[in-house]
Amino acid sequence: MNFFKSMDITNEKDSAKTSGDVEKVKCLIIGSGPAGYTAAIYAARANMSPVLYEGLQPGGQLTTTTEVDNFPGYPQGVTGPVLMEDLKAQATRFGTDVRFGLATAADFSGRPHKVEIDNTKTIEADVVIIATGATAKYLGLESEEKFKGMGVSACATCDGFFYKGRDVAVVGGGDTAVEEATYLAGICNKVYLIVRRDELRASKIMQERALRTKNLEILFEHQTKEILGDNSGVTGVRLIRKGNEEVDIKIDGFFVAIGHHPNSDIFAEYIKTDENGYIITTPGSSKTNVSGVFACGDVQDTHYRQAITAAGSGCMAALDAERYLGSLED
Ligand code: NDP
Repeated sequence: MNFFKSMDITNEKDSAKTSGDVEKVKCLIIGSGPAGYTAAIYAARANMSPVLYEGLQPGGQLTTTTEVDNFPGYPQGVTGPVLMEDLKAQATRFGTDVRFGLATAADFSGRPHKVEIDNTKTIEADVVIIATGATAKYLGLESEEKFKGMGVSACATCDGFFYKGRDVAVVGGGDTAVEEATYLAGICNKVYLIVRRDELRASKIMQERALRTKNLEILFEHQTKEILGDNSGVTGVRLIRKGNEEVDIKIDGFFVAIGHHPNSDIFAEYIKTDENGYIITTPGSSKTNVSGVFACGDVQDTHYRQAITAAGSGCMAALDAERYLGSLED
């Protein structure tokens, strides 16, 4: 989809001047998670005058978590929302122009790169840093929504610690689910892995790891019907075994690990992704297949997906963008 197809390119700039709905910037950052804000801190300090659009969920996925104990620099831990406010304050301190708004389309067919915001305004940018993140998939149950943050989580490394010595369940049968389940098995008393089919999708090596883990029980052919709980949070889960038999198990935490959806759809016409939609970057860099467009954070990370790794890749994107801008001036 090319949202400029219907535009008369010759008149585009003139109409911009008069209508004010086209704006030219040097550096556009899309996304406001740790990757976007770290890119902004570096870009602002390099005099790139970054403009950052926050997207649908300002602060990104971390704003939905409670305590974050594994982000360096916070010896007593920090809540996700506070961490994101701190990152935002640091980015604005150096002059980042942080704005509400959602990128709704992109045209990377020529230069400058064009990104449409809220289906109305067009930003023309010399460099674009995509830090749009990924969205964890949920089962879509009413009870799941009700207990989000009260025992339902989509991130074991973020929240697993709160279930030390207790019983939890993980739903999913892919590499993420097995990885999260084995991680939780090291912390928790007992972990149930709820798998809807009679086999795991996870790679053989991960399957073997799961089978070797003594306090991990795999419940094949089980579907989640309802998450049970009270005012204190999750107390159990109701499962359907082999399509008919109802089974309740007692748990304190329910982890959803049925995949993530990288927020790359609007760039798909121009930016190469893998089969799951993750943006492909040149190894060891944040470069995409389009020069002047860089990607960082979870939208390009199938593997680590941590706040600190996202922040690190945001730094890389800003440095790559700065070098790219420098090469244009040479
Ligand atoms: P996947 O898409 O690979 O797996 C999703 C799993 O969730 C599948 O088992 C699927 O079941 C199950 N599922 C989906 N919807 C539901 C539902 N509504 N109810 C119950 N179960 C459901 O996602 P992952 O996040 O696991 O992995 C994504 C990619 O990242 C993969 O390529 C993976 O290899 C990679 N990855 C690699 C890691 C590593 O190498 N260490 C770690 C984590 C991820 P079904 O099988 O029946 O479709």
